[in-house]
Amino acid sequence: MFRLNDRVAVVTGASQGIGEAIARTLAERGAKVALVARNQEKLDAVLTGIEAAGGTAIALPLDVADTEQAKQVFHQAIERLGRLDILVNNAGITRDGLAVRMKTADWDAVLRTNLTGAYVCAQQAIGPMLRQRWGRIINISSVVAEMGNPGQANYVAAKAGMIGLTKALAVELASRHITVNAVAPGFISTAMTDALPEKAVQELSARIPLGRLGTPADVAAAVAFLASEEAGYITGHVLDVNGGMYMA
Ligand code: NAP
Repeated sequence: MFRLNDRVAVVTGASQGIGEAIARTLAERGAKVALVARNQEKLDAVLTGIEAAGGTAIALPLDVADTEQAKQVFHQAIERLGRLDILVNNAGITRDGLAVRMKTADWDAVLRTNLTGAYVCAQQAIGPMLRQRWGRIINISSVVAEMGNPGQANYVAAKAGMIGLTKALAVELASRHITVNAVAPGFISTAMTDALPEKAVQELSARIPLGRLGTPADVAAAVAFLASEEAGYITGHVLDVNGGMYMA
């Protein structure tokens, strides 16, 4: 059950945190994984770890905000790994600030990376998935897309946009057995949340019914499930991985 043998996956933002955990988990389940992010050194470190564990991966540096580069990198991924079955749009950034003072550049950077980047990567993946009549696209959104968050108008708009993108693509691609789903993590312990003061983490944990922040492995398990053959009748869904902190 839930094996991914013979599948090929592209995971964006695979150089650390949640994306790294997703890439490792998909590789452990038998998929060949193209690791995508901007920092080559960090990608190489993840690649070495996957290979040491017996998995297969390649590292492809890419800024997902660069459409032309994305086209080339997806072409390379397919050429080197032979096909493309699973896309995980996980790359993301924050540029927080209250809306009243938010710089247009910070709005644009977050929308361009988190939402347009996901769309562009999906566009590259759809062609081969349509031809083989099988595919899985999994977009990493966020609990804040569902509940809002002060100081994150750009990030929340992008993550909510990913949910809309998920549903639009799900309807568009269903007849070709391509499922498109979103995973909405709550607060997960990574570099993104390590910046929070200890007191804030304690207050957050007290608001989470399961009593702790999530781990990258919690999110990776949900992604691996949605990528599997067994999840083939699930599409257009938003899977909350948030310890119960928000129940949509
Ligand atoms: P992270 O530790 O900051 O990692 C972000 C990843 O995205 C890195 O691998 C980074 O690598 C890559 N990335 C950033 N900009 C990129 C670009 N333009 N092109 C390609 N890759 C890019 O973040 P994380 O906490 O693991 O979060 C991963 C995803 O989950 C994000 O989409 C985030 O919004 C979402 N999420 C996180 C949480 C949380 O609590 N941590 C909660 C909900 C949702 P490079 O810098 O090398 O490019």
